[in-house]
Amino acid sequence: MTETALQNKLFIGGEFVDAISGATFATINPATEETITEVASAAAADVDAAVRAARAQMEPGSEWQKMKPRDRGKILFRIAEMLTARAAEIGRIETLDNGKPIFESQFVDTPAAAECLYYYSGWSGKVTGETIPVAENAFTYTLREPLGVVGAITPWNFPLMLAVWKIAPALACGNTVVLKPAENTSLSILKFAEYARECGLPPGVLNIVSGPGAVTGTAMVDHPGIDAIAFTGSTAVGKELMARAARTLKKVSLELGGKSPNIVFADADLDAAARGALNAIFYGKGEVCAAGSRLLVEESAHDELMAKVVERAGKMTAGDPLHPKTRLGAIVSQRQMERVMGYIDAGKNEGATLLTGGERADIGTGKGYFVKPTIFDDVDPKMTIAQEEIFGPVLATMRFSDAESAIEKANATVYGLAAAVWTRDISKAHRVARAIKAGTVWINSYNLYDPALPFGGFKESGFGRDQGRDALDKYTQTKSVWVNL
Ligand code: NAD
Repeated sequence: MTETALQNKLFIGGEFVDAISGATFATINPATEETITEVASAAAADVDAAVRAARAQMEPGSEWQKMKPRDRGKILFRIAEMLTARAAEIGRIETLDNGKPIFESQFVDTPAAAECLYYYSGWSGKVTGETIPVAENAFTYTLREPLGVVGAITPWNFPLMLAVWKIAPALACGNTVVLKPAENTSLSILKFAEYARECGLPPGVLNIVSGPGAVTGTAMVDHPGIDAIAFTGSTAVGKELMARAARTLKKVSLELGGKSPNIVFADADLDAAARGALNAIFYGKGEVCAAGSRLLVEESAHDELMAKVVERAGKMTAGDPLHPKTRLGAIVSQRQMERVMGYIDAGKNEGATLLTGGERADIGTGKGYFVKPTIFDDVDPKMTIAQEEIFGPVLATMRFSDAESAIEKANATVYGLAAAVWTRDISKAHRVARAIKAGTVWINSYNLYDPALPFGGFKESGFGRDQGRDALDKYTQTKSVWVNL
């Protein structure tokens, strides 16, 4: 890929600009360990410029405010079409920057981002208030107004898709956005900004400020011109951010980490459950907030299921992320790979049984941050690998004796993002789904998403919902108007 095909500057007021200080940081291809390009690094002054551009489009009489809501939706629709048409280009950028297989970035993540834009384009103009009768001499109604400037802060695991999950509903509701991508994966959303401009999104409506969380992210959280922070990232940073946002009383929504249980009962279709278990933990290299990182298996089906799971995992080899047949790419960074290896060591040291993997993989180049699909068995619920989010291709397997003990184990972490239940017994499936404290429960499937279905966490997995109608609440506020007749 030529340097010119990449956007590596800040996107402020519709222009790609250098940081005021001229600062940049290197973004690395985790499959080759080579620098892809230098990316402009925003400090407080750049964030301020982005906020001013975004605020200008919230002023009465601005292009964005004068635009009919449905016309805003048409722009979102055009961007969705452009993303679809250019999925190969932006998918390749995502793969170079993140290490995920091109199969995922081009054929799963980018189409999912486009679907999200299509979905919210249809909401533009349909976010309405109500008339509410309260007295004979009054005409009373509500308005659903945008919040203003939304500061979005996003992680590196689905750089394009998770940014679009924030941008699409925020813009459909008439807000403007200043978005900070994770520093190691800024390139796809910068390219997206180029597409959005080409599709007619007015300058200042979307601004991208790449840079480190502690600098750029903090400047956003502190900025009085940002009305709300929509955050996706780790629980630790989410807690810190929420405390800090209290100083300017920003509205905060937090999509945080997970340690999701994937529960397989003995009466399930075990072949489907085995396939599902692999997809749950190894899709996206396990760098998925909703990853099924805890496999809970009913005692009597344990040996049969694990034989299937291990056999399939053995066939999953890491490969060049740009190769269309690769299904397991490179861990996003050296730091993350070291974290994952640290957890693997903890699993071994704390006495879990290693069934497969447990070490780095080499794709024949001697380079890149690849880790073999790793499966631990006989994991005690108190072990580190059963409690902490690893965010890598590492599965912790536990056994249970009946539905009650499965539920107890499933709920025994601080997280509550997602879960799955595999069984042929319909009422058991629904009973367990109700008892699990999680924002999403899949039955006889895993990792299925749709823009129409809300997604978010219980407990320390956060609050607020991305996707669906729920996200419209997150990006609007209600005004009551009382007319005395
Ligand atoms: P992270 O919390 O380290 O970083 C997320 C973002 O916050 C990045 O843009 C980062 O630069 C920024 N940031 C870091 N420190 C900051 C600070 N002090 N102030 C403001 N911003 C700051 O998370 P990550 O490692 O990029 O992503 C992985 C985490 O994200 C995992 O915990 C994963 O579960 C979570 N995640 C959650 C969801 C969800 O929808 N619930 C989706 C994807 C990822």
